Amino acid sequence: MKSHSAETEKGNLLIVDDTPDNLRLLSATLGDRNYEVQCAINGKLALMAVKNNPPDLILLDIKMPQMDGYEVCSTLKTMPEAAEIPVIFLSALDDVLDKVKAFSVGGVDYITKPFQVEEVLARVENQLTIRRLQRQLKHQNSRLKQLNEDLKRSNQELEQFAYIVSHDLQQPLQTITGFAELMLALKSQIQFEEEAEEYVLPILDEGMRLQELIKNLLHYSRVGTKRHPFEMADCNVLLSETLANLHLAIAESGAIINYDELPTVFGDRVQLGQLFQNLIGNALKYQRPGVPPKVTISAVKKDEMWQFGIHDNGIGIPAEQGDRIFQIFQRLHTSREYPGNGIGLAICRKIIDRHGGRIWVESEVGTGTSFYFTLPTG
Ligand code: ADP
Repeated sequence: MKSHSAETEKGNLLIVDDTPDNLRLLSATLGDRNYEVQCAINGKLALMAVKNNPPDLILLDIKMPQMDGYEVCSTLKTMPEAAEIPVIFLSALDDVLDKVKAFSVGGVDYITKPFQVEEVLARVENQLTIRRLQRQLKHQNSRLKQLNEDLKRSNQELEQFAYIVSHDLQQPLQTITGFAELMLALKSQIQFEEEAEEYVLPILDEGMRLQELIKNLLHYSRVGTKRHPFEMADCNVLLSETLANLHLAIAESGAIINYDELPTVFGDRVQLGQLFQNLIGNALKYQRPGVPPKVTISAVKKDEMWQFGIHDNGIGIPAEQGDRIFQIFQRLHTSREYPGNGIGLAICRKIIDRHGGRIWVESEVGTGTSFYFTLPTG
């Protein structure tokens, strides 16, 4: 029976040798150092001992009748319960030790007889340390895997939750803003007082702001839940669609837009369109007062990825805020200064994560901002 006293925590060793004197000497040496020791005088008994009480390490004599050490070791490596137990071969100095064979059948080290106690102890301790570290690594890996799965699941649940809540909020909000609009439209017929209009207007304004927020929250949760398969997507087409969607903002601000010939990338067409829309929309929105936006879109190939840049001449972003702005609801301005809800860049980062790329910002306050992102070449 395996003992779990503190003393035997040093390790459980199996010594296999057909010479009783050798067995006695080794087991006494190791037992004195608080290792738990099992002994076997031939290969067959060794395999049985491993099955009954798998040790942490095996010291295995090579030259034995019937089943030699090489054969025992090869058999051990085929047993699921024993395959990972390290085997140190024991060989007499006058034996011809086939080192290549010893390693090729799965041995990790060898010791020659007659033994030098310090050498035996050092080699045993080395292998036990490696084994302990391997076990720890395996344990940590499976724990990390579990944590990763938990995280993935709770992220999915959160996305689902955000989706359902936003979706269910849409309907009543539409009713509220719809009636506010109706009241304003029919104000002459329903004897609408001047003062009442002042109350209804904020209902409409705030209602519409809330609608925009909910729409963006839905977009955010959909990056994870509503995925389109990846396909080859021509970014020139995506860009011209984006510019068409933004034509009002471009015309109103007097923006100048320049762009290179863009590549074709492998990704989710809908999400990539949204990415362009959010970044170019911001480049137009965060303009310096009285300075018409100048936006340049570029793409260069770097390390097997396409690196895109959206450059503007707007208000800029302080260097210390560069990471924060990619988090959801993080804004650097009030909505009075610049309308918005702080979801756009969080959506961009999620989209880029899904495409295996990277997104970052470089900026100078009062001069302009460059957003960069990378996408696989396909
Ligand atoms: P929103 O624009 O709705 O606030 P975003 O997530 O798109 O949300 O952006 C987060 C914040 O990052 C913005 O509030 C703004 O302060 C800053 N920002 C984003 N793009 C730019 C830009 N091109 N120039 C200056 N500031 C920007």
